[in-house]
Amino acid sequence: MANPRDWFAGRVAVLATMHRKEQAIAPLLEAHLGVTVTVPPAFDTDGFGTFTGEVKRPANQLTTARLKAAAALRQTGATLAIASEGSFGPHPQIPFVACDREIVLLCDRQHQLELVGECLSPNTNYRQQVVRSWAEAKAFASTVGFPSHGLIVRADDTEIAKGITTAEELETAVVTAMQQSPSRQARLETDMRAIYNPTRMEVIAQATQALLNVTSQACPACGCPGFSEVKRWPGLPCGHCGTPTPMTLSVRYQCQQCQHQQDAPCPNSPTVADPTYCLYCNP
Ligand SMILES: [Zn+2]
Ligand SMILES: [Zn+2]
Repeated sequence: MANPRDWFAGRVAVLATMHRKEQAIAPLLEAHLGVTVTVPPAFDTDGFGTFTGEVKRPANQLTTARLKAAAALRQTGATLAIASEGSFGPHPQIPFVACDREIVLLCDRQHQLELVGECLSPNTNYRQQVVRSWAEAKAFASTVGFPSHGLIVRADDTEIAKGITTAEELETAVVTAMQQSPSRQARLETDMRAIYNPTRMEVIAQATQALLNVTSQACPACGCPGFSEVKRWPGLPCGHCGTPTPMTLSVRYQCQQCQHQQDAPCPNSPTVADPTYCLYCNP
Protein backbone atom coordinates (compact mmCIF):
# COMPACT_ATOMS: atom_id res chain seq x y z
CA MET A 1 0.00 0.00 0.00
CA ALA A 2 2.13 2.83 -1.30
CA ASN A 3 -0.56 5.50 -1.00
CA PRO A 4 -1.20 6.44 2.66
CA ARG A 5 -4.82 7.11 1.73
CA ASP A 6 -5.25 3.35 1.11
CA TRP A 7 -4.68 2.73 4.83
CA PHE A 8 -7.71 4.79 5.85
CA ALA A 9 -10.15 5.13 2.93
CA GLY A 10 -13.67 3.89 3.64
CA ARG A 11 -13.14 3.73 7.41
CA VAL A 12 -15.01 5.58 10.15
CA ALA A 13 -12.87 7.95 12.23
CA VAL A 14 -14.38 8.90 15.57
CA LEU A 15 -13.52 12.43 16.67
CA ALA A 16 -13.20 12.92 20.41
CA THR A 17 -14.68 16.39 20.77
CA MET A 18 -17.64 18.22 22.26
CA HIS A 19 -16.86 21.71 21.03
CA ARG A 20 -17.59 21.24 17.33
CA LYS A 21 -13.95 20.91 16.35
CA GLU A 22 -15.27 18.69 13.54
CA GLN A 23 -15.91 21.96 11.66
CA ALA A 24 -12.14 22.43 11.33
CA ILE A 25 -11.01 18.81 11.25
CA ALA A 26 -13.61 16.71 9.40
CA PRO A 27 -13.62 18.34 5.92
CA LEU A 28 -9.82 18.04 5.56
CA LEU A 29 -9.64 14.43 6.77
CA GLU A 30 -12.62 13.33 4.70
CA ALA A 31 -11.26 14.96 1.53
CA HIS A 32 -7.68 13.71 1.88
CA LEU A 33 -7.95 10.36 3.70
CA GLY A 34 -11.35 9.19 2.44
CA VAL A 35 -12.62 8.55 5.98
CA THR A 36 -16.04 9.38 7.41
CA VAL A 37 -15.67 11.47 10.55
CA THR A 38 -18.26 10.97 13.30
CA VAL A 39 -18.55 12.51 16.75
CA PRO A 40 -19.61 10.03 19.44
CA PRO A 41 -22.95 11.14 20.92
CA ALA A 42 -22.67 12.84 24.32
CA PHE A 43 -18.90 12.53 24.35
CA ASP A 44 -17.68 14.48 27.37
CA THR A 45 -14.16 15.85 26.96
CA ASP A 46 -14.43 18.18 29.94
CA GLY A 47 -13.33 15.27 32.17
CA PHE A 48 -9.94 15.60 30.42
CA GLY A 49 -9.43 19.21 31.49
CA THR A 50 -10.98 22.52 30.51
CA PHE A 51 -9.62 25.91 29.58
CA THR A 52 -12.16 27.53 31.84
CA GLY A 53 -10.36 26.00 34.79
CA GLU A 54 -13.02 23.78 36.41
CA VAL A 55 -11.12 20.60 35.65
CA LYS A 56 -7.35 20.38 35.65
CA ARG A 57 -5.67 18.55 32.77
CA PRO A 58 -4.61 15.05 33.84
CA ALA A 59 -1.39 15.05 31.83
CA ASN A 60 0.53 16.85 29.11
CA GLN A 61 -1.06 17.81 25.78
CA LEU A 62 -0.10 14.69 23.81
CA THR A 63 -1.00 12.31 26.64
CA THR A 64 -4.35 14.08 27.08
CA ALA A 65 -5.08 13.71 23.35
CA ARG A 66 -4.19 9.98 23.59
CA LEU A 67 -6.55 9.54 26.53
CA LYS A 68 -9.38 11.26 24.63
CA ALA A 69 -8.78 9.09 21.54
CA ALA A 70 -8.69 5.92 23.69
CA ALA A 71 -11.98 6.92 25.38
CA ALA A 72 -13.65 7.51 21.99
CA LEU A 73 -12.44 4.11 20.74
CA ARG A 74 -13.74 2.41 23.91
CA GLN A 75 -17.10 4.14 23.68
CA THR A 76 -17.70 3.36 20.00
CA GLY A 77 -15.78 0.15 19.26
CA ALA A 78 -14.18 1.90 16.26
CA THR A 79 -10.54 1.26 15.28
CA LEU A 80 -9.69 4.79 14.15
CA ALA A 81 -9.90 7.90 16.35
CA ILE A 82 -8.93 11.54 16.10
CA ALA A 83 -8.34 13.82 19.09
CA SER A 84 -7.17 17.39 19.33
CA GLU A 85 -5.70 19.35 22.17
CA GLY A 86 -4.63 22.98 22.49
CA SER A 87 -2.56 24.92 24.95
CA PHE A 88 -2.01 28.64 25.32
CA GLY A 89 0.82 30.59 26.82
CA PRO A 90 3.94 32.56 26.07
CA HIS A 91 5.70 31.75 22.81
CA PRO A 92 8.73 29.49 23.54
CA GLN A 93 11.10 31.70 21.51
CA ILE A 94 9.40 35.10 21.85
CA PRO A 95 8.43 35.97 25.43
CA PHE A 96 5.46 38.37 25.81
CA VAL A 97 3.93 37.02 22.61
CA ALA A 98 0.99 34.70 23.33
CA CYS A 99 0.74 31.61 21.20
CA ASP A 100 -1.58 28.71 20.55
CA ARG A 101 -0.08 25.23 20.24
CA GLU A 102 -2.55 22.81 18.70
CA ILE A 103 -2.01 19.13 18.14
CA VAL A 104 -4.26 16.77 16.19
CA LEU A 105 -3.66 13.09 16.85
CA LEU A 106 -4.70 10.12 14.73
CA CYS A 107 -4.81 6.78 16.52
CA ASP A 108 -5.19 3.70 14.31
CA ARG A 109 -5.67 0.48 16.31
CA GLN A 110 -5.96 -1.63 13.15
CA HIS A 111 -2.41 -0.77 12.04
CA GLN A 112 -0.94 0.06 15.49
CA LEU A 113 -0.19 3.55 14.26
CA GLU A 114 -0.13 6.96 15.94
CA LEU A 115 0.33 10.12 13.85
CA VAL A 116 0.52 13.67 15.18
CA GLY A 117 0.15 17.03 13.46
CA GLU A 118 1.19 20.16 15.31
CA CYS A 119 0.82 23.89 14.77
CA LEU A 120 2.42 26.56 16.93
CA SER A 121 0.79 29.88 16.04
CA PRO A 122 1.14 33.42 17.39
CA ASN A 123 -2.30 33.97 15.88
CA THR A 124 -4.41 33.91 19.05
CA ASN A 125 -6.54 36.30 21.10
CA TYR A 126 -5.59 34.53 24.36
CA ARG A 127 -5.73 37.27 27.02
CA GLN A 128 -7.08 38.14 30.48
CA GLN A 129 -7.73 41.45 32.18
CA VAL A 130 -9.17 42.75 35.44
CA VAL A 131 -11.63 45.64 34.95
CA ARG A 132 -13.37 48.04 37.36
CA SER A 133 -15.98 49.49 35.02
CA TRP A 134 -18.22 48.63 32.06
CA ALA A 135 -16.19 51.07 29.93
CA GLU A 136 -12.98 49.16 30.67
CA ALA A 137 -14.74 45.88 29.91
CA LYS A 138 -15.97 47.21 26.56
CA ALA A 139 -12.46 48.42 25.68
CA PHE A 140 -10.98 44.98 26.47
CA ALA A 141 -13.72 43.22 24.48
CA SER A 142 -12.97 45.34 21.41
CA THR A 143 -9.30 44.24 21.42
CA VAL A 144 -9.99 40.48 21.49
CA GLY A 145 -12.41 40.03 18.60
CA PHE A 146 -15.64 40.15 20.64
CA PRO A 147 -18.44 39.32 19.80
CA SER A 148 -17.30 36.84 17.10
CA HIS A 149 -15.00 35.51 19.84
CA GLY A 150 -16.60 34.59 23.18
CA LEU A 151 -15.66 35.86 26.62
CA ILE A 152 -15.65 34.55 30.19
CA VAL A 153 -16.38 36.75 33.21
CA ARG A 154 -15.39 35.95 36.79
CA ALA A 155 -15.77 37.65 40.14
CA ASP A 156 -12.30 36.88 41.46
CA ASP A 157 -12.23 33.05 41.20
CA THR A 158 -15.99 32.51 40.82
CA GLU A 159 -17.26 32.06 37.28
CA ILE A 160 -20.18 34.35 36.48
CA ALA A 161 -20.68 33.44 32.81
CA LYS A 162 -18.82 31.87 29.87
CA GLY A 163 -19.45 31.64 26.16
CA ILE A 164 -20.59 35.29 26.21
CA THR A 165 -21.22 36.58 22.68
CA THR A 166 -23.51 39.60 23.06
CA ALA A 167 -22.92 43.05 24.59
CA GLU A 168 -26.05 42.64 26.77
CA GLU A 169 -24.82 39.35 28.28
CA LEU A 170 -21.38 40.86 28.79
CA GLU A 171 -22.70 43.95 30.57
CA THR A 172 -24.94 41.86 32.86
CA ALA A 173 -22.04 39.53 33.73
CA VAL A 174 -19.57 42.37 34.35
CA VAL A 175 -22.02 44.27 36.58
CA THR A 176 -22.84 41.06 38.52
CA ALA A 177 -19.13 40.26 38.93
CA MET A 178 -18.30 43.75 40.20
CA GLN A 179 -21.19 43.53 42.71
CA GLN A 180 -20.10 40.08 43.96
CA SER A 181 -16.37 40.75 44.11
CA PRO A 182 -15.11 42.04 47.48
CA SER A 183 -12.63 44.17 45.51
CA ARG A 184 -15.41 45.45 43.15
CA GLN A 185 -13.71 44.17 40.03
CA ALA A 186 -14.47 41.73 37.23
CA ARG A 187 -12.00 39.38 35.61
CA LEU A 188 -12.42 39.05 31.83
CA GLU A 189 -10.91 36.20 29.82
CA THR A 190 -11.09 35.15 26.22
CA ASP A 191 -13.08 31.92 25.89
CA MET A 192 -10.66 29.49 24.22
CA ARG A 193 -13.16 26.71 23.53
CA ALA A 194 -13.03 26.13 19.77
CA ILE A 195 -16.70 26.82 19.18
CA TYR A 196 -16.35 30.28 20.78
CA ASN A 197 -13.04 31.06 19.11
CA PRO A 198 -12.84 31.16 15.29
CA THR A 199 -9.15 32.10 15.45
CA ARG A 200 -8.41 28.92 17.39
CA MET A 201 -10.59 26.91 15.00
CA GLU A 202 -8.32 28.16 12.19
CA VAL A 203 -5.16 27.00 14.03
CA ILE A 204 -6.80 23.59 14.61
CA ALA A 205 -7.35 23.40 10.83
CA GLN A 206 -3.64 24.18 10.31
CA ALA A 207 -2.67 21.41 12.77
CA THR A 208 -4.99 19.07 10.84
CA GLN A 209 -3.15 20.01 7.65
CA ALA A 210 0.15 19.25 9.43
CA LEU A 211 -1.28 15.83 10.36
CA LEU A 212 -2.13 15.22 6.68
CA ASN A 213 1.41 16.21 5.69
CA VAL A 214 2.87 13.70 8.19
CA THR A 215 0.41 11.05 7.01
CA SER A 216 1.36 11.54 3.35
CA GLN A 217 5.03 10.76 4.07
CA ALA A 218 5.24 7.04 3.33
CA CYS A 219 8.09 4.88 4.59
CA PRO A 220 10.38 4.13 1.60
CA ALA A 221 10.93 0.60 2.90
CA CYS A 222 7.41 -0.59 3.81
CA GLY A 223 5.01 2.18 2.67
CA CYS A 224 3.61 2.85 6.14
CA PRO A 225 2.23 6.41 6.55
CA GLY A 226 3.91 8.80 8.97
CA PHE A 227 7.58 8.46 8.03
CA SER A 228 8.31 11.41 10.26
CA GLU A 229 10.97 13.37 12.05
CA VAL A 230 12.41 11.82 15.21
CA LYS A 231 15.61 13.85 15.58
CA ARG A 232 17.45 16.94 14.31
CA TRP A 233 21.19 17.26 13.77
CA PRO A 234 22.80 20.71 14.13
CA GLY A 235 25.80 21.85 12.05
CA LEU A 236 24.50 23.87 9.09
CA PRO A 237 27.66 25.62 7.83
CA CYS A 238 28.00 29.40 8.20
CA GLY A 239 27.41 31.19 4.88
CA HIS A 240 30.43 33.43 5.54
CA CYS A 241 33.17 31.20 7.03
CA GLY A 242 31.82 27.64 6.72
CA THR A 243 32.04 26.85 10.44
CA PRO A 244 29.26 24.48 11.60
CA THR A 245 26.51 26.43 13.42
CA PRO A 246 23.82 25.28 15.89
CA MET A 247 21.27 25.54 13.04
CA THR A 248 19.74 22.28 11.77
CA LEU A 249 21.82 20.49 9.14
CA SER A 250 19.74 17.38 8.71
CA VAL A 251 16.67 15.61 10.00
CA ARG A 252 16.30 11.93 10.84
CA TYR A 253 13.07 10.25 9.76
CA GLN A 254 11.91 6.93 11.16
CA CYS A 255 9.13 4.47 10.38
CA GLN A 256 6.89 3.43 13.28
CA GLN A 257 6.34 0.00 11.82
CA CYS A 258 9.62 -1.34 10.36
CA GLN A 259 11.97 1.11 12.16
CA HIS A 260 13.61 2.08 8.83
CA GLN A 261 15.61 5.31 9.27
CA GLN A 262 16.82 7.95 6.84
CA ASP A 263 18.68 11.26 7.27
CA ALA A 264 17.86 14.13 4.90
CA PRO A 265 18.52 17.88 4.70
CA CYS A 266 16.06 19.94 6.73
CA PRO A 267 13.07 20.70 4.44
CA ASN A 268 12.54 24.36 3.48
CA SER A 269 15.79 25.41 5.09
CA PRO A 270 18.68 27.24 3.36
CA THR A 271 21.86 25.36 2.40
CA VAL A 272 24.03 27.67 4.55
CA ALA A 273 23.35 29.48 7.83
CA ASP A 274 23.06 33.22 8.27
CA PRO A 275 26.36 34.42 9.88
CA THR A 276 24.21 35.81 12.76
CA TYR A 277 24.05 32.21 14.06
CA CYS A 278 27.80 31.58 13.64
CA LEU A 279 29.71 31.29 16.90
CA TYR A 280 32.91 32.30 15.04
CA CYS A 281 31.63 35.30 13.01
CA ASN A 282 29.18 36.48 15.67
CA PRO A 283 30.42 35.24 19.05
ZN1 LIG B 1 8.56 1.15 7.27
ZN1 LIG C 1 30.93 32.19 10.30
